[in-house]
Parts: sequence; structure tokens; C-alpha cells
Amino acid sequence: MPAGVAAPLPDGFPHGRAVCPVCWDFVDLENDALTDHDAFTGPSDEQDAAARAAWFNTHGWADETATVSD
Ligand SMILES: [Zn+2]
Repeated sequence: MPAGVAAPLPDGFPHGRAVCPVCWDFVDLENDALTDHDAFTGPSDEQDAAARAAWFNTHGWADETATVSD
């Protein structure tokens, strides 16, 4: 597992993505770096909102794996 991948919940969320330390979105990784993305403006739907809430409740807002090197 490459550095930066967020720890998954039992259901697999966020599915190999990493937490962006700037906008707190879950972002795909490429070569262990966050891919370009639009700043997070809110969950896409209720399921996404619930999954995000569950993840942050479980893993918190200061996940050390969110460190970005670029
Ligand atoms: Zn971001």
C-alpha cells in the first residue's frame, strides 16, 4: 500500500484514496501523490456524506498518512 492511502473502513471506503490535507476531500493517488482535483465543496450525495462522516469519526482529522510530498 503506497504512503498516503487513507485507512479503509470495513466497507472499503475510501477505496484506496488519500485525504487531501488542504480541502479534506478523498483523492486518487498517482505515484504516491494526490492527483489534481477540484477543492472539496461538499459530499456528492447522502451515501458519500455518511461514509465521510464515518471515516472522520473513526480516523480523525489529523491522519498522519495525509502528508503530501510533491
Ligand atoms: Zn484538495
